[in-house]
Amino acid sequence: MTIQGKVVAVTGASSGIGEATARHLASLGAAVVLGARRTDRLDRLVAEIQAAGGEAAAMSVDVTDPDDLKSLVALAVERFGRLDVLVGNAGVSRISPVADLDVDGWSAMVDVNLKGVLHGIAAALPVFRGQGGGHLVTVVSTSGLKIVPTQAVYAGTKNAVRTLLEALRQESTDGVLRTTSISPGYVRTELIDHAVDDPAVLEQARQNMAALGIDPAAVARAIAFAIDQPDDVEIGDLTIRPTRQN
Ligand code: NDP
Repeated sequence: MTIQGKVVAVTGASSGIGEATARHLASLGAAVVLGARRTDRLDRLVAEIQAAGGEAAAMSVDVTDPDDLKSLVALAVERFGRLDVLVGNAGVSRISPVADLDVDGWSAMVDVNLKGVLHGIAAALPVFRGQGGGHLVTVVSTSGLKIVPTQAVYAGTKNAVRTLLEALRQESTDGVLRTTSISPGYVRTELIDHAVDDPAVLEQARQNMAALGIDPAAVARAIAFAIDQPDDVEIGDLTIRPTRQN
C-alpha cells in the first residue's frame, strides 16, 4: 500500500507544514487524523478536506501530554481502523544566545520538540507492532545539520530526535517499522512569529523568512514522497531547503 488508503496522523496540523501536509496527503487519498491545540483551525481544515471528498478527523492535542497522543492514535483506529503513519511535526522555536538564559524557552522546546515526539512514539509503536507495520515521520531541521548561534537548544532538540529515530531504526530491522527524518530549511510559516520577543529582531526575521523561505507545500510533498514507498523501502533522511539557503 502506498499513500492511497493509508491512515496518517499529523501533529501540529493547525498551521504551516502540518496543515500543508494534511491537505496534500488527503488530496492523494490518505485518511488524515489531525492534532494540535487550536481546534478551530483543525475543524476548518477537516471541513475543507471533507468538502473536497477526502477523509479527515481532528481532536485537541497538546503533545506535551502523553495521554493526548494516545487519544490521537485511538481516534485514528476508531475512525479508520488502523494507523499507518504518525507524522511528528508539532514544534516550537525560541531564538536567543545561550547566555540569555531563556530557561522557559529551553523547556518549551524540549517539551514539545523532543518529549512530544517521544510521546507520539509511545502511543503509536504498540499499534504499529500489533498490526504488523507502521511508519514514523519526524520533522527535524537543517538547524541540526548546520549549527548556528542563537539556535543551540532548538538544534539540540532536533538532533536528539534525529538520533532517537536512527536508534529506533536499528532496533527495528524486523521490517515492521519505517522511520524518516525530514530536515527542512527555511519554510514560510508561523514558526518565526513565536521565536523572538524583540519587535525589531522579529521584523528582520520575518523579512528574511519572506525573502528566502519556501512554501510549506514543498515539505508536504517531501513527506508524501517518503510515505509513498513500498513497505520494503525506507526513506531515512531527507533534507529540503531553499536553493539560496547557505
Ligand atoms: P508553525 O508554527 O506554523 O506550526 C507549528 C505547529 O506546532 C502548529 O500547528 C502548532 O499548533 C503546533 N504545536 C506547537 N506546540 C504544540 C503543542 N504543545 N502541542 C501540539 N501542537 C503544538 O510552524 P512550522 O509549520 O514551521 O513548524 C512545523 C515543524 O517544522 C516544527 O517542528 C518546526 O520545528 C519544523 N521546522 C520548521 C522550519 C521553518 O523554517 N518553518 C524549518 C525546519 C523545521 P497549535 O499552536 O495549534 O497547538
